[in-house]
Amino acid sequence: MTDFVIQPPAQASVAVAGSDARFPIRRVFCVGRNYAAHAREFGNDPDRDPPFFFTKPADAVVPAEGTVAYPPLTGNLHHEIELVVAIGKGGADIKPEQALDFVWGYAVGVDMTRRDLQDVAKKMSRPWDWSKSFDASGPSGPLHPVASVGHPAKGRIWLAVNGETRQDGNLDELIWPVADVIAYVSQSVTLAPGDLIFTGTPAGVGELRQGDKVTAGVEGVGEIAFTVGKR
Ligand code: MN
Repeated sequence: MTDFVIQPPAQASVAVAGSDARFPIRRVFCVGRNYAAHAREFGNDPDRDPPFFFTKPADAVVPAEGTVAYPPLTGNLHHEIELVVAIGKGGADIKPEQALDFVWGYAVGVDMTRRDLQDVAKKMSRPWDWSKSFDASGPSGPLHPVASVGHPAKGRIWLAVNGETRQDGNLDELIWPVADVIAYVSQSVTLAPGDLIFTGTPAGVGELRQGDKVTAGVEGVGEIAFTVGKR
């Protein structure tokens, strides 16, 4: 056994629905823009842009239940509901036709965003990390194995705040479907078991305040509910 000079960090992981076993998280990739209406709400042309990616640390994924912490350094925390793909088998240069064979399961997640910091980063051509990669920035529900949910390609993806629907899209509106997203990521890095991919958010992103009750879901995958913590 390796002798470490400090206690090694705990393995980041996400719950598996209907099981006591957990899925270990290696890396978290996120698609920047993958629904036409969301691209348009930020003034971008959805037809022209190939997908681009950013990352979150593995331990940014926390249970989307109870209270999810309000992060420091922001006055404009935004919700982005997303379908999360869990990779169970590694590979590079994966063909879209084979890509779904690399999926272990799916979850409902929220790509929490410090929008004010992202606006500054965009304006000043700086990296997005500080706006996207903070503690608890990827609250997610349990993973559902492909064996139980298949490969959802169609179905409502939605998020409500205090009972009021804010985001309401459909998986069939994805500019780059899951198989294409996996193929793209695997052209840039070798995907490995334990990698998660947040696949992008539909239109309607907006601000979350302290005490807000967030409910969200992806049809055929599951639903989540949590409260935003103290600012
Ligand atoms: Mn996002």
